[in-house]
Amino acid sequence: SRGIRIKGVSKVYSGTARPAVDDVSLDIADGEFMTLLGPSGSGKTTILSMLAGFVSVSAGSIEIDGREVSRLKPHKRDLGVVFQQYALFPHMSVARNVAFPLQQRKMSKPDIAAKVAETLELVHLGDYADRLPGQLSGGQQQRVALARAVVYEPRALLMDEPLGALDRKLRDQLQREIARMHRELGMTFIFVTHDQHEALTLSDRIAVFNEGRIEQVGAPAELYERP
Ligand code: ADP
Ligand code: ADP
Repeated sequence: SRGIRIKGVSKVYSGTARPAVDDVSLDIADGEFMTLLGPSGSGKTTILSMLAGFVSVSAGSIEIDGREVSRLKPHKRDLGVVFQQYALFPHMSVARNVAFPLQQRKMSKPDIAAKVAETLELVHLGDYADRLPGQLSGGQQQRVALARAVVYEPRALLMDEPLGALDRKLRDQLQREIARMHRELGMTFIFVTHDQHEALTLSDRIAVFNEGRIEQVGAPAELYERP
């Protein structure tokens, strides 16, 4: 069975009483653009962190293509991750930042060069390969982060408020970029936001979070345009 399956997952952080995530189940289909929408503190980041393996699950299971992954180390899960703060390597050029995951995977030099060039074209940064991150705008830096997260063709791309640090105009622009990347790559995208407009614009389906639980799941039209 293909896809990502979250089954009865809960998280209680140590030293806290109330679960941050409380018995959440969600199936994400292959190639789907799924958005986790909800107010601050509703458990979205915790779900993403458990998917990525940065945070352990307290109960329940996470399956990727039928394989239980909740005990696997982050790098064994084959997921790309982009957070609000881009966390690029500041002393490395754009190209070297994007090449880094491929070098870790011991890809050959010619293959790395080709893949880096192709991925920089995908995010429209072909002319910026030799710049340092500090010489780029916030939106461009976030595009480098996106390129670095998808360059090794992970099973899915996880994004936590990736546009949160950008002004309105850049946000709209990058939203369109992300939608286009999703179409071109055909990869599963899981996107966290508290912005309903953003969720409606981007998503195939939206899971609406409140107080650690999912209240509703559906396509934008099902959730917000009922007569
Ligand atoms: P969201 O992403 O929707 O803003 P979070 O998943 O970050 O929500 O947080 C859900 C709840 O878990 C909040 O009440 C938050 O305070 C709490 N929480 C998040 N991270 C930790 C942590 N490391 N330790 C203790 N509590 C945490
Ligand atoms: P190394 O770490 O092998 O000394 P570099 O630091 O110059 O090599 O670059 C790391 C990787 O980034 C290289 O494997 C190369 O494929 C890629 N790279 C560097 N510059 C560019 C560029 N202008 N365009 C595309 N890829 C590049």
